[in-house]
Amino acid sequence: MSLTLAIVGRPNVGKSTLFNRLVGKRLALVDDQPGVTRDLREGEARLGDLRFTVIDTAGLEDATDDSLQGRMRRLTERAVDMADICLFLVDARAGITPTDEIFAEILRKRSAHVILAANKAEGAAADAGVLEAYGLGLGEPIRLSGEHGEGMTDLYAAIQPLADKMAEQAAAEDAEAAPETDVTIDDEGEGEDSQQTLEDRARPTSEKPLQVAVVGRPNAGKSTLINRILGEDRLLTGPEAGITRDAISLRVDWPQGEGEVTPMRLFDTAGMRKKAKVQEKLEKLSVSDGLRAVKFAEVVVVLLDAAIPFEQQDLRIADLAEREGRAVVIAVNKWDIEENRQDKLRELKESFDRLLPQLRGAPLVTVSAKTGRGLDRLHDAILRAHQVWNRRVPTAALNRWLSGMVEAHPPPAPQGRRIKLRYMTQAKTRPPGFVVMCSHPDKMPDSYRRYLINGLREDFDMPGTPIRLTLRGQG
Ligand code: GDP
Ligand code: GDP
Repeated sequence: MSLTLAIVGRPNVGKSTLFNRLVGKRLALVDDQPGVTRDLREGEARLGDLRFTVIDTAGLEDATDDSLQGRMRRLTERAVDMADICLFLVDARAGITPTDEIFAEILRKRSAHVILAANKAEGAAADAGVLEAYGLGLGEPIRLSGEHGEGMTDLYAAIQPLADKMAEQAAAEDAEAAPETDVTIDDEGEGEDSQQTLEDRARPTSEKPLQVAVVGRPNAGKSTLINRILGEDRLLTGPEAGITRDAISLRVDWPQGEGEVTPMRLFDTAGMRKKAKVQEKLEKLSVSDGLRAVKFAEVVVVLLDAAIPFEQQDLRIADLAEREGRAVVIAVNKWDIEENRQDKLRELKESFDRLLPQLRGAPLVTVSAKTGRGLDRLHDAILRAHQVWNRRVPTAALNRWLSGMVEAHPPPAPQGRRIKLRYMTQAKTRPPGFVVMCSHPDKMPDSYRRYLINGLREDFDMPGTPIRLTLRGQG
């Protein structure tokens, strides 16, 4: 499956120049039919080892009349609909214009994935423009110079994970279509949400099934839990010997009180290890298998056995989920056989804080997959974790907050030069990611970074979600 990237932006920001750099002479399609405006160009791009199709909305500069805006909009929308990724260029030298804002608006609404680039960014004259570009609410801009070939590595880094993800998704779809190698139990076709795995970050997802992975050591009770959620014994036993299978996905409507349901897609890895023989091999399998489920998920439920909680393997998988930027819920299972619940709970919370400080504030719920007790709480914890993971804090509120934080506890002054925190914005959600523009970002001690992250968590009520904080210099 080939990736398609559209370069969009108002006239004169440097789209054609970048297109030519990416495509070179490999122009695949020139529409030279008489009477047809040649307004979308397409070519085969190369960037490092990446190969993709690139679309350029050339020809815009010819339109100088009143219809320019309408035409630009239509053309851009067409390009956006054809593309997997939109590379949105702004001119860092000119700064952000109202027309750029219109484009940003179109892209926020229409495109699954947007990469923002501040072009013409060679040299310091572009710094102010790059900073302004943060304000578009489309994430952190890449500094690019199409003319001078600068920033191409950053561009590569932005495209590459998506290309990977698409390949992975294509492979998963192939595997799902071939049940002899991968058992998938699925009520519905993959059609309606097959797009979703491709970083569907800019879209509201409420109507889509929430992607939840249940991970944990063998025998923690994953199959029992999932069967309980499904309400019947639908999860099959392990596959026949010799058949490998990856994560199983199940569509389920989890009842939510008053006849409401939460649509979910559950990724489970349970069946495969049932018949595995060698313990060592089994451990290895379940880790790599869990890893796969984690990559697909939005929320990861780490299921622990109350009798042996926070084993090495549990910690590894929880840490992995955090590093992958997933929302995490810790569920402690087999609570029905626990006798001294009060003490046990205290002990669990203490171990959690000590062993997984990176997941501070993540919900910890006790459940019994066997009796079904605590499943409502688990359901609510999953929804809440998902909400927090999606949270967006307005830029104005963040900047007010930032000056308060700085006043309460100013950043250090390495070699007598105080680190100045200037401006802050939320560059992304899922999980929340923030960018702080400051002087001497490389001098910022970890303790101050932690102070900011913990403050964000507390003050904007974002418990449990991974929070990313990037410090940027201005030059
Ligand atoms: P388009 O209308 O968006 O396709 O823009 P063009 O590619 O035609 O470029 C518009 C103008 O900006 C041309 O004069 C280019 O030479 C210039 N330009 C393009 N890229 C850069 C760049 O990276 N840096 C600078 N300084 N100028 C650039
Ligand atoms: P998996 O390997 O994680 O899928 O674990 P299973 O669902 O196969 O469960 C392993 C064992 O734990 C089985 O014997 C289950 O009956 C038992 N088990 C699972 N959940 C509970 C629970 O909530 N309470 C009790 N007492 N036993 C449970």
